[in-house]
Amino acid sequence: MNIPSRSEFDQNHPVRTAVIKVASRCNLACTYCYIYEMADQSWRRQPQVIDTTTIEAIAKRLAEYAQYRSLSALIVVAHGGEPLLIGPERLAHFFTTISHGLDTVGCETHLGVQTNGTLLSMEAVQKLKSRKVHIGISLDGPPKVNDEHRVDKHGIGTSGAVLDGLSRLREATNSRPLLGGFLSYADISVPPIVQLDYFIELGAAQVDFLFPNFNHDTLPKEYRNGALGRWMIQLFNLWMDRSNQLEVRTFTVIMRLLLGGKFGYESFGAESQKTIAVEPDGTYHASDVLKSAYEGVTSTGMDVWHHEIREVESMPLIAATSSKAVSAANECLACPIFSVCGGGLVAHRYSKAQGFNRVSVYCEDIKLLVRHIMDRLKKELMGRPDVTVSVSSFSAYSHRV
Ligand code: SF4
Repeated sequence: MNIPSRSEFDQNHPVRTAVIKVASRCNLACTYCYIYEMADQSWRRQPQVIDTTTIEAIAKRLAEYAQYRSLSALIVVAHGGEPLLIGPERLAHFFTTISHGLDTVGCETHLGVQTNGTLLSMEAVQKLKSRKVHIGISLDGPPKVNDEHRVDKHGIGTSGAVLDGLSRLREATNSRPLLGGFLSYADISVPPIVQLDYFIELGAAQVDFLFPNFNHDTLPKEYRNGALGRWMIQLFNLWMDRSNQLEVRTFTVIMRLLLGGKFGYESFGAESQKTIAVEPDGTYHASDVLKSAYEGVTSTGMDVWHHEIREVESMPLIAATSSKAVSAANECLACPIFSVCGGGLVAHRYSKAQGFNRVSVYCEDIKLLVRHIMDRLKKELMGRPDVTVSVSSFSAYSHRV
């Protein structure tokens, strides 16, 4: 595996997604939250919500960068904390200001918001609809499952409020288009069919099952290697029978990579589109899922007031989450499925002793899952000589798992 030099990497990988933290606080208290419940507590020093001047400064930096990179399109996602805490009016102003800035340099804007779904009032829905903002909702499955961890500040489950918000969304849009998809944690204590069928019944177009945010120092001692992989395999088999009903991003991305696709996303693939995050105080950061590792891990030391995005994009910290070879352990670089796995989510590689230079805590799970999907793909594609499953050394590898 060749490790690209930084200049080569930067040239080929402009920032394609800007995640803007418009609120640093949340109205929920989910037990597993990587922002509030894990190592990095820097949210405490952030303003509660972004102000107008910072929004304008961000819009200027994004437009300047789009022009410098001749970008035809940029994805801009409002994130938090809970982004709807800034209120429908200010959120609408945020999206309008950002789109206007990018419009002036001929860059199309794809807008999104990632929300816990509990504050989707009709006013908020209408404002998001009028600006064509795609809405991603975090929900862990049926109420009994979701409400175990996704609770409010009093420990009360939040499914009811999310489902009310979803009804308003449906009422206003009358179809799926604005609903970008669901993010759900893979919970191996729940039968996969329960989680999968719930999202189908909900009419979801897409769901992603995220691996719980553990690293080598925090993985529960009772966790048995391969348990999550086996759970995901069961889910995959069920999904294959129902795949015309919704997309499960984890599986479609793995299949695409096995068939020779280049780009994955944060969780899978050796390469993914580069992302930059901006906190409410205007400071630039790397992907916030790294916050499960240690205090200050995402900080670049640069901000929208003094620095252009082109100065930040070349930092190894930013590159590490999109070109995984930049930061992967030697064992991963030599792994036959590195192009599909990418060493997993960077946050899952961390240990205090070795930093991010380790295999994922879910290494065995990923190997099991990828091997299973590969075998299934081969079976499904038998008699299709025009299609090649691309991990050529996989058969040698599969004996070692
Ligand atoms: S399967 Fe394991 S060794 Fe291979 S790339 Fe992924 S984390 Fe690294």
